[in-house]
Amino acid sequence: MKTIPEYFGSMVFDDRVMRAKLPAKVYASLKHTIDEGAALDPGLANEVAAAMKDWAISKGATHFTHWFQPLTGITAEKHDSFIAPSPDGGVIMEFSGKGLIKGEPDASSFPSGGLRATFEARGYTAWDPTSYAFIKGNTLCIPTAFCSYGGHALDKKTPLLRSMEALNKQALRILRLFGNTAARHVSSSVGPEQEYFLISKEMYDARPDLRFTGRTLFGAKPPKGQEMDDHYFGTIKPRVAAYMAELNEELWKLGIMAKTEHNEVAPAQHELAPIFTTTNIATDHNQLTMEMMQKIASKHGLVCLLHEKPFAGINGSGKHNNWSIETDDGHNLLSPGATPYENAQFLLFLCAVIKAVDDYQDLLRISVATAGNDHRLGANEAPPAVISMFLGDELNAVLEAIETDTPYKGTEKTQMKLGVDVLPKFSRDTTDRNRTSPFAYTGNKFEFRMLGSSNSIACANIMLNAAVAESLKIYADRLEGAADFESELHEMIKETIKAHKRIIFNGNGYDDAWIREATEVRGLLNYRTTADCMPHLMDKKNVDMLTSHKVFTVEELRSRRDIMLENYCKTVTIEANTMINMASTMITPAIERFSADIARNAAAKKGLDPSLACAYETALVRKLSDLTDAIAARTSELQDAVIALHDAGDIISESAMIRDNVLPKMCELRLSCDEAETVTDKKYWPMPTYADILFSVR
Ligand code: ADP
Ligand code: MG
Repeated sequence: MKTIPEYFGSMVFDDRVMRAKLPAKVYASLKHTIDEGAALDPGLANEVAAAMKDWAISKGATHFTHWFQPLTGITAEKHDSFIAPSPDGGVIMEFSGKGLIKGEPDASSFPSGGLRATFEARGYTAWDPTSYAFIKGNTLCIPTAFCSYGGHALDKKTPLLRSMEALNKQALRILRLFGNTAARHVSSSVGPEQEYFLISKEMYDARPDLRFTGRTLFGAKPPKGQEMDDHYFGTIKPRVAAYMAELNEELWKLGIMAKTEHNEVAPAQHELAPIFTTTNIATDHNQLTMEMMQKIASKHGLVCLLHEKPFAGINGSGKHNNWSIETDDGHNLLSPGATPYENAQFLLFLCAVIKAVDDYQDLLRISVATAGNDHRLGANEAPPAVISMFLGDELNAVLEAIETDTPYKGTEKTQMKLGVDVLPKFSRDTTDRNRTSPFAYTGNKFEFRMLGSSNSIACANIMLNAAVAESLKIYADRLEGAADFESELHEMIKETIKAHKRIIFNGNGYDDAWIREATEVRGLLNYRTTADCMPHLMDKKNVDMLTSHKVFTVEELRSRRDIMLENYCKTVTIEANTMINMASTMITPAIERFSADIARNAAAKKGLDPSLACAYETALVRKLSDLTDAIAARTSELQDAVIALHDAGDIISESAMIRDNVLPKMCELRLSCDEAETVTDKKYWPMPTYADILFSVR
């Protein structure tokens, strides 16, 4: 049996393979492109393609695909086999440089938000050499960007790469001002912690809501949920352990550094965290991880739920986006350094993040907005929809000292001027307050915790990179023109703290009093739903910032807003229709069967002895009858709310109608059905209950 180091990355056309299989000149040139984002020499493509093909065939691949990330939020692929006819009537295996560099999937059915008329159905995919090709099943997958013929991005990867470039450009300007001439490239790094639920396939199959929407739309609270905290970090059940072992092995073969795994708070909930890497690779890897999680679950008779809120009243699943900025020579710019100069630079980068998060709270909220995540933000164990930052007591004290020009008490000699003296080593704060913060500094990185478990991490990182690039640009403009670098720097840091300290909150983010303070005293934004936040993508300040850094064009932004809102409306409409269907064809008939049996029993008893009161049966039948009446009425109200969507006019009004009419009616219908579940004999209930599902995997 092979050891992990022997098979790690065995399905990846990575640096080791490239060096071994490519001519030295080709390798050097490609490496230059990968490391420094230099333009690719198209003359090399044939040689790279040939090497890739031979390697892939030696691993059993028969097909290749351009692998891309359209705005559906999942990945897409269209397989072509390598075969080409040979003159002797047989076939040869062929893969040209052209096929590597550019693909033309017939992509008319991917959402484009009006960017691509259906008559010019074809977008094209373009090889992204900064992310390694890999083999999945029998197919060589080539990571690509997906664009329209007009040059508009139709995917999540293109703007992500652009945002990384914007950050690189502005961060390098700052580094040069600090006299750093060694760094040639700066990029953001990410380690996404992925939460998920594992349930038995049998339970899943018996629930149309899970099958159609990924979450349960009905379900009374089980007698036991997560209140004992006995699942968190608990021993992993053998069936789950076997699943995790196979998942790890498959991820390792794909070069994905799956590192930690544990049980989460809710029953049946788990988490997997990889070791961090460059953002675009982390994004590809996270997509692959989610795909593998689902694929491998089915081999074990399990289903992996990636929905943000599969079960009401029980923790939802998120994704913690650990994010930092690093130079190509290995310096973490969000880590305090050892020298005064490094520390001044650290403080400037820290301020850039503080300013970015405050100025673009709305964009960060938008970047995690989906119908699914709306159920999670502000509910059990998830951050609120209000964005704030946690810095910890030490760092807070340092910032206060700078703001007020008073000595910082943490170290003996500290005038927070340049040369700032040595900063304390900021220890990782693991208090509960930290855990409740949507955006926490954890010693050498920030952890953005609002992402939903099914979100692509691209969206959050695009906004984060772009907003921080904007802060850095403003700083670099000022510093480059400054007469006295040190005093300008000091002044800027001070100004940033004064202007943006409202976003810093070190208390308990789950507290209701905080939400009041945040919105009423501090004026922070609280966009509770996707319908509330998404229209603000087109606010002038957001459009100006994102277009000035060339992360999006105006047209791309408008199309994305529309696609996200359409997605929200479609998701909820499918849920509403599923509820209507289940209430009418499963739940009501089940209650009727039960109540008919009770009524028959009572009649039979009375037939034996007319003096019997049958009070129990009478009351129960009355209650069940009231419930079925309520369910019928609420089902028809929900139906009306859905039908009314046809007259919405535009997508913004439709999303408001979803929020104001459809979702509340869904809640009402659910309440009646869940109440009925608690009084109906379990053997009549037409689907597995929460208790059945949550404790189904043993
Ligand atoms: P935990 O949160 O479990 O205590 P860590 O803080 O070490 O563990 O890591 C959490 C996640 O943050 C991991 O995915 C890790 O790789 C990632 N991480 C660590 N350092 C960085 C960094 N500089 N940039 C981005 N992510 C990082
Ligand atoms: Mg974490």
